[in-house]
Amino acid sequence: SRKKQPTAQELIDGILAGNITALSRAITLIESTNIVHLEKASEVINGCLPYSNKSIRIGITGVPGVGKSTFIEAFGKHLTNLGKKVAVLAVDPSSTISHGSILGDKTRMEELVKDKNAFIRPSASGETLGGVARKTRETIILCEACGFDVILIETVGVGQSETAVHSMVDFFLLLKIAGAGDELQGIKRGIMEMADAIIINKADGDNIKKAQLAKVEFNRALHLFPAKKSGWIPTTATCSAITHKGIDAVWQTILNYLELVNSNHYFIEKRKEQNQFWMMETIDEQLKNHFYNQPSIIKLLDSTKKAVQNNEVSPFAAAQILLDSYFKK
Ligand code: GDP
Repeated sequence: SRKKQPTAQELIDGILAGNITALSRAITLIESTNIVHLEKASEVINGCLPYSNKSIRIGITGVPGVGKSTFIEAFGKHLTNLGKKVAVLAVDPSSTISHGSILGDKTRMEELVKDKNAFIRPSASGETLGGVARKTRETIILCEACGFDVILIETVGVGQSETAVHSMVDFFLLLKIAGAGDELQGIKRGIMEMADAIIINKADGDNIKKAQLAKVEFNRALHLFPAKKSGWIPTTATCSAITHKGIDAVWQTILNYLELVNSNHYFIEKRKEQNQFWMMETIDEQLKNHFYNQPSIIKLLDSTKKAVQNNEVSPFAAAQILLDSYFKK
């Protein structure tokens, strides 16, 4: 016999009651491409919205190998031990190709995976960055309504995805390791500029001295950036995700940040700005999708691209031809 699918209201009730199965099912709806699912997802999100907004959202980035998974395991456990409920999400558009390079391998989060107060959800796949980012954004709302009070959002430090994650979090953490130059670490200036804290991981064993030197260097580098609108002065610290040394200090830094931005009202202002930003992003994304999925555009696009390549028509005129064909309908 076919199992009856829960209604939107049943999912909302489940999520508000802290039911993880309901949460997972609702996220699956968000990730679906089926229009019926998406309408239901939208209903669930709206139902959850009044109960969201009650967490601290933390972005975590760093190049592969820097220790993100290991750090999230240690940091996440630290938080659940403090009685927090922790959700771990990811923004990884490359997961389409690599089948989930981040959070896909949960072996480094063994403890957290088993923890009743933690919820881990890998990145949606088969999507553009815009699509993945929107889905993560919506997933945050559901997680908060489900009672998760710390949301960790992991991303890889190699490109555009940092900017997307930065625009959905309250605090942005950059993980580094000592001894690798910036170039080696593939970290662009822009990513460092977004960071509220730089944590040098793997400060253990023979590596402690080097990590402390790196901390001093990064601290110097951070001072060259313009002051932040939040009034927060980015901090640097060392930690070891393996020995757990310095993990509690990372949380203390975030608490200090919260105290500042709550008292100067930046916290709420930034969230308002982010909400507007995501509205605009969603419009951009849907308009683009609609445009590129129009049969007339699909038919014309390749030949028009070729014509532009061969200098038969200017890029602007070509764009106009496509746009005219779209708006004419
Ligand atoms: P990710 O790719 O950024 O998620 O990095 P992982 O968490 O998978 O870690 C990459 C490697 O670094 C693994 O072999 C970890 O065991 C190791 N590692 C992570 N954190 C630490 C640490 O604090 N100290 C040491 N010595 N090794 C670490």
